[in-house]
Amino acid sequence: MSETALGPAVRAAALERMRRERFDLLVVGGGITGVGIALDAATRGLSVGLVEAHDIAAGTSSRSSKLIHGGLRYLEMRDFGLVREALRERRLLLTKLAPHLVRPVPFLFPLRHRLWERPYLGAGLLLYDTMGGARHVPRSQHLSKRAALRSAPALRPDSLVGAVRFHDAQEDDARFAVHVARTAAGHGAAIATRAAVTGFARDQAGRIVGACVRDDLGGRELDVRARHTLVAVGVATDRVLELATGRPQHALRPSKGIHVLVPRAAIRMETGLFMRTEKSIFHAIPWGADHWLLGDTDTEWDGEPDAPVANRADVDYVLAKVNSVLVRPVAKAEICSVYAGLRPLVAAEGTASTARLSREHRLFAPLPGLTAIAGGKYTTYRVMARDAVDAAGRDLGRVRPSRTHEVPLVDAAGEVDALVAADAALAEPIAGTRHRVADAVHACTHEAALDLDDVLTRRLRISIEVPDRGRAAAAAIAPPVASALGWSDARAADELARYLRLRDAEAAAEDAPDDATARARYRAVLDAPKGV
Ligand SMILES: Cc1cc2nc3c(=O)[nH]c(=O)nc-3n(C[C@H](O)[C@H](O)[C@H](O)COP(=O)(O)OP(=O)(O)OC[C@H]3O[C@@H](n4cnc5c(N)ncnc54)[C@H](O)[C@@H]3O)c2cc1C
Repeated sequence: MSETALGPAVRAAALERMRRERFDLLVVGGGITGVGIALDAATRGLSVGLVEAHDIAAGTSSRSSKLIHGGLRYLEMRDFGLVREALRERRLLLTKLAPHLVRPVPFLFPLRHRLWERPYLGAGLLLYDTMGGARHVPRSQHLSKRAALRSAPALRPDSLVGAVRFHDAQEDDARFAVHVARTAAGHGAAIATRAAVTGFARDQAGRIVGACVRDDLGGRELDVRARHTLVAVGVATDRVLELATGRPQHALRPSKGIHVLVPRAAIRMETGLFMRTEKSIFHAIPWGADHWLLGDTDTEWDGEPDAPVANRADVDYVLAKVNSVLVRPVAKAEICSVYAGLRPLVAAEGTASTARLSREHRLFAPLPGLTAIAGGKYTTYRVMARDAVDAAGRDLGRVRPSRTHEVPLVDAAGEVDALVAADAALAEPIAGTRHRVADAVHACTHEAALDLDDVLTRRLRISIEVPDRGRAAAAAIAPPVASALGWSDARAADELARYLRLRDAEAAAEDAPDDATARARYRAVLDAPKGV
């Protein structure tokens, strides 16, 4: 296995390879699906290049509920195949591929109706257990009302008549995706972030033979050649396929989901909470030792596929949902942060609500030499990657079967300590957080972070966990990050200003009454001339 660290020099080398080599496969998009594809293809012996427009997991893959789950609600939709497949993936990840990144998490499902609800839900959970759920997490368990309130004293006694406890699994989505990317790099994939596909190359027969890529740090364009190109750009699928085909595309129907982070002390419970809503489900998910992740929502999104933001109605909905069952309501002032993501749902004729759209993935083959994949869910990324590479393999010919079911993800334990051993100053804590300066430097030298937002939002999560959204931390880590990434003082000052502006833009949006106003406020703050 080659080097798995993804630092700036490795990015430069990857771009150099992209300039010179003709890859078997070019992957467009570095969300969980794209990095999963890179790993699947590289471990089959294919030469692989991957380009990501922003950062690894900058899109939906850092904005999910962060659950590796069978999908209890899909049982109700009678999507048994999807549940079985997801439970199999959950087991693989917990036991073999990523036990260092995925852990079981308990949920309480309060019952509201006497007589029918317990047997109905009990049967569903029995199916969940027997489909594979109970082999690697504790079996589901029925609780009396009194026992339920003992483990969740925050719940209003009149909000339940009893409960069922069950387990799913949890990970840090952005961090997990970086580990997949690093593992792919270790198997030979060339990975470059801040490298966006702006067009596709065709041969005389009309076959796609590569893509035009903009290197946003080097300010150059390069033509990357590949025998097959696989597009895994989530909600940007229509936009990117339009670049290839020259025709508007309508394959996706994105829906927005937001989460609200509140301190653990705001809700006295020893377990997560899982509730049915009119449209879908609602979770309170333990996040680290100090927070709850509350959400999510499911609303149609008709804006641009980048930078979704929450609005006031979204936040009010989440608070109203959780407060409807709590003795002591969570106040708006207790909110640490809010984040929004877009589900890359595949459109289906005649389905009115996005909550009812299938979470299955779909492959598209719009042109010879080009395949796209969209839909699905984080939990089943490995299956999506396998199916995508199988499809490309039919075009490439003589491609070995997938073997990612036996390839553990890189375990980076000890790397940060090694940095501290080499430079004791890095042991300094980042004030107000659970991290050391070394963690920020490590994000740049090993985890492909290229600016303060990559470090604070997607590697260390400081921007969502700390009430000032990481403003103080950004100022504290700017100098060591600048030195890890080779920035001048002026560049470091610009980067810091940009980080602060991003957080201001999010805060401005969160108080807007609707998506259109939220987006306008977000852009207005972000695009304002410097110094305003
Ligand atoms: C609110 C919410 C909660 C969810 N919760 C869960 C959950 O708990 N469990 C679960 O299993 N699933 C969950 N999901 C679903 C899951 O998060 C997504 O299915 C998954 O992250 C999609 O990954 P992706 O790689 O396909 O897309 P993305 O993560 O969006 O990645 C696409 C990437 O393509 C890049 N890109 C776009 N255009 C270009 C271009 N021109 N050139 C290069 N790169 C480009 C983008 O920058 C982006 O990084 C949730 C989704 C949402 C919205």
